Amino acid sequence: MQKVYLDNAATTPIRQEVIDEMVKVMQQDFGNPSSTHSIGRSAKAVIETARKTIAKYLNCKSQEIIFTATATEATNWILRSAVKDLGVKRIISSRVEHHATLYTVLALQEEFGIQVEFVNVSSAGTLDYHQLAGLLTDEIKTIVSLMHVNNETGVINDISRIGAMCQQNMAFFHCDTVQSVGKTDLDLQQLPIDFIVASAHKFHGPKGIGFAFVRKNLVLQPMLFGGEQEKGWRAGTEAVHQIAGMAKALELSYENLNEEINYIADLKSYCWQQLQAAFQEVKENGTTTFYNILNVLLPFSEEKTTMILFHLDMKGIAVSRGSACQSGSAKPSHVLAEMLSDEDLKKPSLRISFSHYNTKDDIDYLVETLKSI
Ligand code: PLP
Repeated sequence: MQKVYLDNAATTPIRQEVIDEMVKVMQQDFGNPSSTHSIGRSAKAVIETARKTIAKYLNCKSQEIIFTATATEATNWILRSAVKDLGVKRIISSRVEHHATLYTVLALQEEFGIQVEFVNVSSAGTLDYHQLAGLLTDEIKTIVSLMHVNNETGVINDISRIGAMCQQNMAFFHCDTVQSVGKTDLDLQQLPIDFIVASAHKFHGPKGIGFAFVRKNLVLQPMLFGGEQEKGWRAGTEAVHQIAGMAKALELSYENLNEEINYIADLKSYCWQQLQAAFQEVKENGTTTFYNILNVLLPFSEEKTTMILFHLDMKGIAVSRGSACQSGSAKPSHVLAEMLSDEDLKKPSLRISFSHYNTKDDIDYLVETLKSI
């Protein structure tokens, strides 16, 4: 059966060069990076080279990159430490953040009784920047946690603007850049951001490895106690091959960036045209969206709605559910619930997300299959 993978916002296939790099490291650099002998030092060198590579592409200092297992872990650590160690008394976020942020914010509110404010989001998925500006004038130690690219809709937040507002008002800024690292240039010398988080499996690297950027001079407390790894902030023997694989994946993403952006953006616009040609009333969820994510509301009846993902899956097509009711037990998407009317929420929305491995044939197959439902 034909297999079509159009769920690249969930995870991406690993590039062959990344697999080769990881295998090489596993075979040749198996030492414990904390060992002082040459085999250990060699593994340590792999880690520090990877850190430098990542720092180079994001234009920051290598000491500002801290390896973590996932972006979820990094976000949990940063927000928790901001409350516990940096004196933060309020978190400003939005209800369309990934659960890694949203549930951490709610847990911290419950545990520490801190104030939480959510910035409103329009039906197009855009943040209310004026409300944010107003909130930031309050004199209370604040961390703002707002993402760069929304993983469900692809809506892009203006992080330069948010960063500048935070800087003016002495608020910390944590940005979930999971969907944008490796997919667009991020210059951390220019962007006024204190913390970012990333995950290798979103940019054709391995799962179970990510990193946090923590701006120099900000001192967080350890998330794990034990050895001296990662400045003593994240104790535990490093996953050397995963770290090397992540750096390789980031390097390849940035070396091929413009070419891949053009290719993927073209696929997305082709997909949108084909969907419009096939379904007159199709709508895009969100405006100002990233080049690799297309979230669409399909004008299907309620009976068909429950069938769609199942039917696509039977035909070998992987996409994500965009909204409620496509599976009896599933909850509605918390992101679309903030944006769509109750009536539209009942209709099927699909998140189609692309990578450079996709082709126009994949899209033709998707559209033909949707037409046959
Ligand atoms: N933030 C966003 C925007 C994501 O898309 C994801 C992954 O789905 C995460 C955070 C969590 O990343 P990880 O799987 O590395 O914990």
